[in-house]
Amino acid sequence: MPYHADPALAEFVRALPKTETHLHLEGACPFELLQKLDPVKYAQPPPFWDDAYRYQSFNQFMDLYVEYCAAFFTSADRYHEAAKIVLQKCVDQGCRYVETSFHLPALLFMKDSGPEVIRAIRAAAPRGLELRVFAGMCHNDYRDAGRELIDDALTWPELDGIDLHGWEDIPLESWTADVWARARARGKFTKAHAGEFMGADYVEKTLDELKVTRIEHGVRSVENPATVARLVREGVALDICPISNLKLAVRGVTAMSAHPIRKLFDAGVTVTINSDDPFFFGNALAEEYYALHQDLGFSRAELVKIAANGFRVALVPEHQRKAWLDELAPFAVEAAFHS
Ligand SMILES: [Zn+2]
Repeated sequence: MPYHADPALAEFVRALPKTETHLHLEGACPFELLQKLDPVKYAQPPPFWDDAYRYQSFNQFMDLYVEYCAAFFTSADRYHEAAKIVLQKCVDQGCRYVETSFHLPALLFMKDSGPEVIRAIRAAAPRGLELRVFAGMCHNDYRDAGRELIDDALTWPELDGIDLHGWEDIPLESWTADVWARARARGKFTKAHAGEFMGADYVEKTLDELKVTRIEHGVRSVENPATVARLVREGVALDICPISNLKLAVRGVTAMSAHPIRKLFDAGVTVTINSDDPFFFGNALAEEYYALHQDLGFSRAELVKIAANGFRVALVPEHQRKAWLDELAPFAVEAAFHS
């Protein structure tokens, strides 16, 4: 773990009420569950937990995703089993609110229905945790049986929203804008991955076509000041995952100290920090906070602002949002003494 904190900062971060708004359930697969399935294959921790590990490409990352995780998530029960551990870990780290996604087309290979899987995930949430469940899909998933599945998912009351993920360089197809609009018309929240492997132009295209107000990653927006200004002007939030960006060697993130979150935050963009796929990065949410403090000079007061952003974007009634922000107030006061 390259990101450490002195005991006082570690305690401050632990106690700070937090959110996770960018967490792929399959990518958070608890290693102990894989070990239970195959103690021989999974006898050693995976190589990508090493701090110095860097993925060679997104394709390599996806190959490992299939090898390690897709094989595990074969039923609603498996989603429940994994979510129970993953969500408890979130609570143990001080999360009050979590948005998690699952890969929607995985249902095409399962006997359980989408609503059954979502109910299984929801049932795994510890008491007191506010959970929102998103269905993720790739740019080219709206075809054959996938088309029917995506259309059907928009009618599931159990589903809170949809997310576009996977290979960013597969062109955005025309169905996406239509599906995103129909999802919103049915009360679903919509977001999309962009600006991770493609530049600021693609972030703009995503905003123009999908009309989302939340972008997953979006860090390469920094390549164009006009895009950054637009994010601020339109109040678009970025759910950023600094350690994921470093290990996936996102352009511009040659070291944590070079991560664009500093510039984006300073420019006034609403940014949150998240762990993305903790199974593949060996990261914990607290480390994301340590990384910002250690390598990017974020003060405690700034870390409180980042935590507050998570509650600002949370999909909850205003009185709940206010209650959480009120809970943060003493941390802001305490942080002021350390600035
Ligand atoms: Zn993601």
